[in-house]
Amino acid sequence: MVADDLILPFQIEAPALRGRLVRLGPLADEILHRHDYPPSVARLLAEMLALAALLAGALKYEGVFTLQTSGDGPVRLMVADVTSAGALRGYAQFDASRLPPEGDASVPRLLGAGHLAFTVDQGDFTDRYQGIVELDGATLADCVHHYFRQSEQLQCALRLAVAQSGGCWRAGALMLQRLPPPADSAEAEVAEDGWRRALSFMASVRSAELTDADLAPEALLYRLFHEDGVRAFRRHALSAGCRCSRERVEQVLRAMPADELAALQAEGEAVITCEFCSRQYRFDRQTLESFAA
Ligand SMILES: [Zn+2]
Repeated sequence: MVADDLILPFQIEAPALRGRLVRLGPLADEILHRHDYPPSVARLLAEMLALAALLAGALKYEGVFTLQTSGDGPVRLMVADVTSAGALRGYAQFDASRLPPEGDASVPRLLGAGHLAFTVDQGDFTDRYQGIVELDGATLADCVHHYFRQSEQLQCALRLAVAQSGGCWRAGALMLQRLPPPADSAEAEVAEDGWRRALSFMASVRSAELTDADLAPEALLYRLFHEDGVRAFRRHALSAGCRCSRERVEQVLRAMPADELAALQAEGEAVITCEFCSRQYRFDRQTLESFAA
């Protein structure tokens, strides 16, 4: 077994392009099995997890990076977030009766019309950074690409793959990004050539290579970009992790309107399930009554 559950930043030497490779193995499998969603929803959430890691890897932040979709399709909400320490989690909310037959898994069909948003939350005392774009594209990768095209901050290219082999979910993602071209026209031409070459190398990657458990991530980068020289940096480890706690659930209950809290008390017990990790928190009537004070 080779390394899994990681973000691997790299640089292509000749054209000085930056990129990142994300590979999710046991962590994607753990998250998706815990949820036990229908395959089309699980596949889409696997893409969200890989994308969240890919985009978070492009930012310097201390806190939480969140990627979220909301739309009028059968999958009304999807959330994936990753902390700067590498803890990744995610969930989907969907209407099972409206899901299309398996195999029809495009963004318009599953998510409908809506938005893709990402947020960086660095705590209470700093500004939240948020980017938002309409869901415009057949795949989530297309939608993210659309965001970057529209924002004009960054030219980028993305590849995303999800696979299920031997009952285990895997995901892989690759992103290349380009800085604004140099002012000098000869240099700009060289940079343009380098970018186009890198794009054609990237286009040659097969989905099966992005999710191959037996192919080391550095070996994949070498296979794709060795002609222009490629240097991999230090790997960032990712893990499946949730930040829910009994204290946080208590805070939510204490902040509830009195009539809703009274309704929970009338039932004698409240069981609150974390949407991210499915952990259950139980509160008996006596405890609930103490929140009403
Ligand atoms: Zn949780």
